Amino acid sequence: MQIPIASACAIVALSVACASPTTPTTTASSPTTTGSATVTSVPTLFQKFQSTVTATLDGNQIVLRSNGLPDHASPYWPSANALYEAPSGGMMLAPNTIATQNLTLRVPASPAVATASDTPLGPIGLAVNGVAIFNQYAAGRSPLAAEILTFDRFNGHPQQSGQYHYHVEPLWLTGKNGTSSLIGVLLDGFPVYGPRESDGSFPSGLDSCNGHTHATADVASGTYHYHVTATTPYISGCFKGAAGSVG
Ligand SMILES: [Zn+2]
Ligand SMILES: [Zn+2]
Repeated sequence: MQIPIASACAIVALSVACASPTTPTTTASSPTTTGSATVTSVPTLFQKFQSTVTATLDGNQIVLRSNGLPDHASPYWPSANALYEAPSGGMMLAPNTIATQNLTLRVPASPAVATASDTPLGPIGLAVNGVAIFNQYAAGRSPLAAEILTFDRFNGHPQQSGQYHYHVEPLWLTGKNGTSSLIGVLLDGFPVYGPRESDGSFPSGLDSCNGHTHATADVASGTYHYHVTATTPYISGCFKGAAGSVG
């Protein structure tokens, strides 16, 4: 699946320089996402990220950069912002306002299943629209119950520093792109998909990390991937592979 594009392409922003070149060509020896393979260009998966996200290859890692701002309406925007909207009925508005972030996530370019590990508080991944993905806990690893009341109608909210994030299904993305669409990537490099498979069925056999392995629309050779679920852990219960880093 990997495409040996000119190396110059790999070190510049995907959205700028790597968007146009040609249909991917597959060779018998092309690396896959199963682990130790050498990756020579940004995997095609990252072309699904919106233009506000840059994805570059740095050694064996993909570096994702984003300003963290949602591309949709929310009552958490400053009221002067064009995307500001009034809170929806029943929502409990928290006293935080969306602010520009300087998000950098480094994820394995060739993710591999390893010993599963707990996800931390703070960003555990990045959604295709550049918004941070958080885990299923509030501070102190307490349940999200109270925080859920503060979610806007797309299931996001900002924390104290204005970092907007999703703990559960980003309804803006699944509404716009479909319920089986790519939601984003976690720090271990594995993709997250919506609550359904591409044939419309619900995923079966999800493990405690909320994932399983089969071919996906983005990785024809098959990959471990997470699915968004309606119940905890919502996005991921643990990292299935070795996690990269934030910052
Ligand atoms: Zn939160
Ligand atoms: Zn699946």
